[in-house]
Amino acid sequence: MHEMSLAESVVDLVDYRARRDGYQRVKTVRLEIGKLSGVEPEAIRFCFDEVASGTLAEGAALDILEQDGQAWCFDCGQLVPLAARSDPCPECGGFRLRMDEGVAMRVKELEIE
Ligand SMILES: [Zn+2]
Repeated sequence: MHEMSLAESVVDLVDYRARRDGYQRVKTVRLEIGKLSGVEPEAIRFCFDEVASGTLAEGAALDILEQDGQAWCFDCGQLVPLAARSDPCPECGGFRLRMDEGVAMRVKELEIE
């Protein structure tokens, strides 16, 4: 499952940073997930708890912020908001879109102690 390996990379990064900086425990992981990234927040949440077991991120709260998508439309020549990858341009209905925002997942912030 795609989300399992993503959750693993998040936990690896968080565990590495917490150890490097000499912390004992990660309280909260704030994760930004773009709505066009193809990543399911609920699947990440489920996998995170599983892979965090035995790391400094065990028991950490996962705070997921969904970032809206934005795309450049070649048909009407403007930046438009986009809710899903498969959606047409909300302005002109065109499908020639280049995704600009909301295509990635990243760790935004950590609360550690
Ligand atoms: Zn358009």
